[in-house]
Amino acid sequence: MPTRKPLIAGNWKMFKTGSEAVETAGKLVELVKGADHTEVMIAPPFTALSQVFTAVKGTNVALGAQNLFWEAEGAFTGEISTGMLQSAGCTHVIIGHSERRQFFGETDQSVNKKIKTAVAAGLIPILCVGESEKERDENKTFSILDKQIKIGLKNLLLEDVATLVIAYEPIWAIGTGKTATKEQAQEVHRYLRGWIDKNYTAALAESIRILYGGSVKPDNVTALMAMPDVDGALVGGASLDAETFSKIVKF
Ligand code: PEP
Repeated sequence: MPTRKPLIAGNWKMFKTGSEAVETAGKLVELVKGADHTEVMIAPPFTALSQVFTAVKGTNVALGAQNLFWEAEGAFTGEISTGMLQSAGCTHVIIGHSERRQFFGETDQSVNKKIKTAVAAGLIPILCVGESEKERDENKTFSILDKQIKIGLKNLLLEDVATLVIAYEPIWAIGTGKTATKEQAQEVHRYLRGWIDKNYTAALAESIRILYGGSVKPDNVTALMAMPDVDGALVGGASLDAETFSKIVKF
């Protein structure tokens, strides 16, 4: 039987000032104290990372970033390096979120560079993959996922992928209130785990965590988490409120 500890990760996107973020993080820390059956991570905007770290340091809430750049430093206006993220207290980083692909031109190739950079630095990458509604309707879900994961993980070794978390986030379910059914999520998660088995090893496929993301709420998390290949959730909107997010953590 797999022994994958679920990860419930909150993506705060471009919401909350430093003080707002600290307030929410502080409340969350109190609410999820002792919730040991899951790992918890929050990813506030860059500007709030250091402040939020003071609120979560030494607790069971880990800190993550929403993006990174692959260079260590230099003339790259507006970008941020792994060293900067780690000095702000980050242990995790979300990579290839569909909003970054859609609005900021991220490609599977740039995602691959970012994943490699995160792994090399010792940050835990959460690689986001997922199909659009049109792609699902045209029965292209698996071919799209195949391409995203194949290029996203290109030239990554077994030991690199061992540290990684995958998040299946169907684009049509993000911020829409339209969740994938538990059967749809399970089908894709099984496919992704099978891909890891085929391209790496059965042991890695058994141990890698695959999160579901897309309108996860307190009232649908339990059903999703009951599926054998769903190992946690990447939560957007419902992670912004500490009380709501804590209910998801304690599914
Ligand atoms: C997300 O941003 O990764 C996400 C899943 O958002 P939401 O939960 O709001 O659909």
